[in-house]
Amino acid sequence: MKEKETTQNIQEKLRVSIGTAVELGLENARNIVAPTTAYLLLDKGCLGQCSFCPRNNGNSKELKLSRILWPEFSLPTVLTNLDNFSNRFRRICLQTSYNPDQESLIKKITQDLTQSGKPLCVTVHPAQTNFIPSLLESGAEKVGIGLDAASKRTYEKHKGRPWENDFEAVLNSIKSFPNKIGIHLIFGLGDSEIDFVKMIQFLHQAGCSSIALFAFTPTEKSSVMKPPDLSAYRRIQAFRHLNYKRIRMFENLVIMDERISSFGIPESQLIEALLNGEAFQTSGCPDCNRPFYNESPRGIAYNFPRPLSKEEFFQAVKEMDLKSNLNNF
Ligand code: SF4
Repeated sequence: MKEKETTQNIQEKLRVSIGTAVELGLENARNIVAPTTAYLLLDKGCLGQCSFCPRNNGNSKELKLSRILWPEFSLPTVLTNLDNFSNRFRRICLQTSYNPDQESLIKKITQDLTQSGKPLCVTVHPAQTNFIPSLLESGAEKVGIGLDAASKRTYEKHKGRPWENDFEAVLNSIKSFPNKIGIHLIFGLGDSEIDFVKMIQFLHQAGCSSIALFAFTPTEKSSVMKPPDLSAYRRIQAFRHLNYKRIRMFENLVIMDERISSFGIPESQLIEALLNGEAFQTSGCPDCNRPFYNESPRGIAYNFPRPLSKEEFFQAVKEMDLKSNLNNF
């Protein structure tokens, strides 16, 4: 099979999430849930110091990002197989590391990937917002920014960077490119439930295209060792969904004991608003399902990578632990 030509050095390599590699015929295994987006990673040494990332401080030998393995393949092989198995994916996501030296390479790979005809998103570090216009000009449909933390305290503690500078740059990008910028947020880094949902509303109102919610995933090297409380995560998922749809605002919530106690609407309305289960599925760009990025297939499904069954939906509603008889389901 003839390999696709690229604008790059033929030796250039890309990492591919293990689930994506299976769908591309590059790894011999079966996915429990197939990724609906092809996840690729270009990381030749990240200058970031995120406390929760095993590839921080240039540790490009580490094969994991979150709990996922990312085997490496040549760029022409990846491009060829993306063409040959194009019906397996509805989107391509190129994740990148914080390294300004790699910007021209990322731009060229972006151009190569847009040849697939699939919508493409590229993720960047908050310190690289200057790079966003050229990514969009190169054909990226959306850009995801790994803000990750929802407050100055947790950002500076876990990302090791100045919040004021970075947050202002992120907001400017959101405002300059309405509906083009998605924000990644991780719950479990020490932000309170209330700070977190306030930030979700703030970012929606500023004009971000979506918020990709992640549950903090402990790795051997992370400074925080516990995943977040599931009930709090379920309430945050429900708020993100209802706020994105403009069904509920922070001001409508009933807060007790520093947590969401009620969404301030009758149960029947709340169930109806959540009934398609989307709130509890992976959020972010359209068709991004990130299977098992945060959880083992045998463990708690923080983000469901597929539609929920009726039983799973009512279990997720129950897990929200709202202060009403919703718990009777
Ligand atoms: S939401 Fe999903 S597809 Fe979009 S940038 Fe984030 S990981 Fe990629």
